[in-house]
Amino acid sequence: MILNGDHYRFPKYFCQCYNKDKVRNTKGGINLAQNELAHALEILKSHKVRLTPQRKTILNYLITHHTHPSAEMIYEDLKQHDDSISIATVYNTVRLLVDYHLVIELKNGDGSTHFDYFGQPHYHVVCENCGKIADVFAPEFSRLNQQLDEITRQQTHYLVNRTDIEVKGLCPECQAKLGLLHNR
Ligand code: ZN
Ligand code: MN
Repeated sequence: MILNGDHYRFPKYFCQCYNKDKVRNTKGGINLAQNELAHALEILKSHKVRLTPQRKTILNYLITHHTHPSAEMIYEDLKQHDDSISIATVYNTVRLLVDYHLVIELKNGDGSTHFDYFGQPHYHVVCENCGKIADVFAPEFSRLNQQLDEITRQQTHYLVNRTDIEVKGLCPECQAKLGLLHNR
């Protein structure tokens, strides 16, 4: 992966937080997103995947939105700017990106499927009340994942494809709504 650095310090908050520090984050975010897009397109090209403008638009959307959108959310956003994109194209494209390990699939509490461009390894915490998904970037994450893979292989002799770590909890908004924050 090309990426390291600034883009991923504010992934989940990307949309909100670039207002705060508009110039720096917008500029850095866009440059890094362009690198990431070029990198992802390279991978797809090397697998001889046909890169239609619609596929590129959907890939770019996922690279620049760390909001864990569903296919429907992607479609609702994109159709306002591009009427050549259908919901079927969104479904097919996210499926394709999942197959090439550029995007991961996430289920939230209500069983709906959400998508996440997976540039830098991270795991997710899901609110059991409202289903909101947040990113967690832990320095030890990759090492822990490797250890879990090894332990799994040793104990079960399975060939491990991937490890999904998911933490469940209550988001700050739901804690406030449920009156669990009144001591702060
Ligand atoms: Zn919540
Ligand atoms: Mn994520």
